[in-house]
This record gives sequence, structure tokens and C-alpha cells, in this order.
Amino acid sequence: MAKDVEIRSPFDDSVIDTVPEHDEADVRAAIGRAVEAKPIMAEMPAHQRGRILNNTAQLVEKYGEDLARLMARENGKPMKYTRGEVSRCVETMTFGADEARRLHGETVPMDAAKGGVGKIGYYVRVPVGVVGAITPFNFPLNLVAHKVAPAVAAGCPVVLKPSPDTPLSAFRLRDIMLEAGLPEGAFEVVNGGADVGQWLTTDPRIDMLTFTGSPAVAHHISKAAGLRRVALELGGNGATIINDDADIDRALDRVVTGSFAYSGQVCISVQRIYVHENVYDEFREKFIDRTNALVVGDPLDDSTDIGPVINDTAAERIEAWVQEAVNNGAKLAAGGTREGRLIRPTVLENVTEEMKVMCMEVFGPVVNLVPFSDFEEALATADESEFGLQAGVYTRDLAKAMRAVERLNVGGVMINDVPTFRVDHMPYGGNKNSGLGREGPRFAIEEMTTLKMVVINT
Ligand code: NAD
Repeated sequence: MAKDVEIRSPFDDSVIDTVPEHDEADVRAAIGRAVEAKPIMAEMPAHQRGRILNNTAQLVEKYGEDLARLMARENGKPMKYTRGEVSRCVETMTFGADEARRLHGETVPMDAAKGGVGKIGYYVRVPVGVVGAITPFNFPLNLVAHKVAPAVAAGCPVVLKPSPDTPLSAFRLRDIMLEAGLPEGAFEVVNGGADVGQWLTTDPRIDMLTFTGSPAVAHHISKAAGLRRVALELGGNGATIINDDADIDRALDRVVTGSFAYSGQVCISVQRIYVHENVYDEFREKFIDRTNALVVGDPLDDSTDIGPVINDTAAERIEAWVQEAVNNGAKLAAGGTREGRLIRPTVLENVTEEMKVMCMEVFGPVVNLVPFSDFEEALATADESEFGLQAGVYTRDLAKAMRAVERLNVGGVMINDVPTFRVDHMPYGGNKNSGLGREGPRFAIEEMTTLKMVVINT
């Protein structure tokens, strides 16, 4: 039987709520309920799937302030960002609803092949079956929405395991979706750590796996998936290039936000900023001023820019990586101190590509400034990463912008914006160790459906 566990705020350790920690029998039973919901979801008409998702969007909006507070308490994200996450969840659900209504196949010109003459052919998209979803702590509402909205739109039940640090938003969203009209069993939430994840991923009744989290865990999921379909949304060490023809003042606010929003605990956070030497001093000075002006503190306070990182282990790791860089010659241009889980936004200079803060994913409020003299070399250095999620390039030169689009091996190139830019209907995902497949309801639905070909012999 599940035992109850307390979920505490990473800011002040206050108890927010208790939730069940599920054991193997609970997980198997949840999967069983999802299997029972499989025909119900597969046969549900598109207009009904669309309506449930539209209803969900309306309810998320209605309960928005409560959801924003819940997230600020459970993962320490400042209210100014959790309110944004609620709005994005409304949009993700709405995009899911739109896609549910236009999910279709197409006809195939059979007579284009000699053997196809006299035949009518078309294909339809059919739901893949039960989706097993695993999500991280950093967007506990909208990343859950990115699994559930396409699953419902595609006609699939979903069994979701949220991060054990932040399960409350997922349980709340499940309740909201039931209120919105989703049948029992169509959205099951199982709570726990790696063991719950393993029971979920190895259960043969799960037809498809979708995971958002770190590359290390993705390797386990990928192995467990075997011949089943798997979608992986993983990490990065986002690069931004500031060329000397860029509008520096336009770039600054975005680059500061992209570096430090939610304490850098964002997969597309800015981690490496390559700045042309002609504008380096100007950019550096303004960037550091703005960084030092950020307010670190209570996530429930509307003026707070930077709250705590998720737990002590993360805080200690981030501090150790900064220390390692400094020990090897990096210079602290801002920050570098911490009080418990509150880490002051940190800017490093004089770094090398081999330092952990450069080549690994920091997932904390730490950013590196690196001067360059040649744009092509900056592109090459930015691209020399095991990751390939998104990149940002600031330039007014169209030819340089298009060269960056061509050269960078990433899932998305943002011209005159930071890699941190995302709206929820765009295809989103990474190359190399940043993942496999794309999210955004339309694209996730492609992963959650299979094609069924029909040939009619006339
Ligand atoms: P994590 O990989 O530690 O955990 C993610 C989830 O996997 C959690 O629910 C965790 O309990 C579960 N898990 C752990 N071990 C497991 C196992 N053996 N089998 C199955 N499940 C297991 O990640 P995190 O610390 O919660 O989140 C941070 C990571 O997520 C970063 O790498 C970040 O870049 C990535 N991320 C990626 C995206 C994206 O869309 N690309 C979005 C957000 C976060």
C-alpha cells in the first residue's frame, strides 16, 4: 500500500501537502486502469476530445492563481514565472484541443505505381495505446501538459510519473482534467522515484514512452523501451552569440532573463554567451549591472527574480562546479556566493571549454562570458557541444543569421533572441544528447499515433 510523503518547499522547508508514494502494486493497478480506458479513449470522437481539452484550458485559467502559488511553493519558482507557466499551460491545452479536431491522414495516389492501378488508398492516424510519461521538476505543470494534452488529443490514456520533488501540480492537473470531463483511467498519476519510473517503463502494457529529464536517466528509459516507441526531451548548455552588429540594448534584458529565469533550471537556459570582442566591454558592463540588480529571495514575493534551486544536492553541485572553474583560472564577475539553496546569479569569465560550467549542463544560475573575434569560429565553438537543443544568435546581418541557422546542429535557432525562447505549439526538442523526437502538441501527437494504411480493391 502507498504510504504518504510530505512535500516541502525548497525555500523554507515548510510542508505544503502530503501525497501517496506509490508501490509496485499501485503502479501496476494504475496501468491496469489505463489499459481499461484504452478503447474508451480510442473510440472517443474528436469533438469530445477537443472539448475536454478546451474545458481543461478554461479550468486551468480559472484556478490560475492557486496553481501559480502551488508551483512557487513546490519548486521555488518565483510567482512572476509561475503565472507565466499557468498561461502557457492554458495555451498548450488549447493547442491540443485544436489538434484533436484536425487529426487526419491523407489519400495515397495508388495508380502512381503500376501495381496500384484500380485501387483506392488512404491512411489514417490511430492512437498508439497507453502512453507512459515521466517528467522533471522544473515545469511541473506545463511539461505535464505537454504529455497529457497530445495524448488525449491522439486518443491515448496516459500514466504519468512526475518528479518526486514536484508531484502536487500533476495531481492537481489530473483532478482538473477529471472535472473537465476526462474519463477515469485516462490520466493516471503515479508518484515516486526511480523505482516507480522503472516499474512504469518496463511494464509491457505501456505502448509508448515519453520522457523529459536528464540524459543519464534517458539511457535507462531508452534501454527499457526495447522495441516500443520512445520520445526523449533532454538537457542542454545553451549558447548565445552576440555579434558586433547586434542591438546590444535590445539583447540585454532577454539574455539576463534567459540566463537566470528560474535560477537557470531550464533546459534551454543561456549558459554560454559568446560576445564579439568589439562589443565585449560594453556588453559585459551592462550585463553585470543588470545581473547584480536581480532580486534573490522568497518565490512567493512578487518582486523576486531568483528563488532557491530545487534541493541541497543541486546547490552543492552548482557551487562545486563554480569553485572548480575558479580554481582552474576562471574569474568571478558577479555572484559566486550562496546561502543554503539560494545562489546569487553568477557570471564567470576567463573560462575554458573543458570546464564543467561550460561543457556540462549547469542547471543553475551560472553563465559564462566568452569573447570571440570571428563569427564563423564562434559558431563552430558554440556547436562543439554534446548537446544540441536550441541556440540564440544576435546579429543584424541577414547572411550571418542564415549561416548560423545552417551551421548549428540544434533543434531550434533563435535569431535576435535567446535559446530560452519557446511558445508551446512550435516543434521543440533537441539533437545529439539533447533528445529524440519533438514536442509541441502537433508533433507529440505524431509520436503518439501510428499510421494505418487502407487499400480498397475496386
Ligand atoms: P531527472 O532526469 O533527474 O528526472 C526526471 C524524471 O525521471 C523524474 O521524474 C525522476 O524521478 C525520473 N527518474 C529518475 N530515475 C529514473 C529511472 N531509472 N527510470 C525512470 N525514471 C527515472 O531530471 P530532473 O532533475 O527532474 O530535471 C532536470 C533535467 O530535465 C535537465 O537535464 C533538463 O535539461 C531536463 N529538461 C528537459 C526539457 C526538455 O524539454 N528538453 C525540459 C525540462 C527539463
